[in-house]
Amino acid sequence: MDQHTGNLFILSAPSGAGKSSLYKALLKADDKVRISVSHTTRAPRTGEEHGREYYFVDHESFLDMIAEDAFFEHAQVFDNYYGTSKASIFSLLEQGLDVILEIDWQGARQVRQLYPNAIGIFILPPSLQALEERLKGRATDADNVIQRRMSEAVSEMSHYHEYDFVIVNEDFETALSEMSAIFTAMRTKTAVMQQKNGNLINDLLSL
Ligand code: 5GP
Repeated sequence: MDQHTGNLFILSAPSGAGKSSLYKALLKADDKVRISVSHTTRAPRTGEEHGREYYFVDHESFLDMIAEDAFFEHAQVFDNYYGTSKASIFSLLEQGLDVILEIDWQGARQVRQLYPNAIGIFILPPSLQALEERLKGRATDADNVIQRRMSEAVSEMSHYHEYDFVIVNEDFETALSEMSAIFTAMRTKTAVMQQKNGNLINDLLSL
């Protein structure tokens, strides 16, 4: 197979839409996909591990990274800073792996500017009620925090139309197969196949 750069995917959703369960299932099922681990200044939630969900850093270290131009994109999302380091994505793409950036709409806009081939996927919950239940079910935040997150969710969802694909996560398996179909379709685009299978195409046309 010829040298080929992986695809860069942007995955956005309001908190509580089930985005993490979806990408985790996709990562398990597809060994050509990796998730970029972001840096954040927010505190870890119960069960989260440094280096797995996020690199948890303090405000000062985050500002140092901005000054060192270490970020591909970064944004203030509500009360905290979040950013994708350049180091976390380029080596993976160069290995031909598809990389998922799990970022908000502000980061997505920056990535589209820098990397126009990035493919945006937005995950919607099936209803506001389901979203609220999922936020409550997680039980990691107090009630007033949940109400605030609901309005933050609506604000995030208002940007859904800036993305190439939209998935409604009503039934998990359906949503997963839709997401998987998008990854497969993007890998078989003509321009990608020309890069990936250039030798084969030359052979086939050389009679
Ligand atoms: P949470 O704190 O619930 O993990 O994430 C809050 C929001 O920050 C989500 O919308 C998530 O997509 C976004 N986010 C997480 N990592 C990044 C990042 O590296 N860059 C940007 N721009 N947003 C991020």
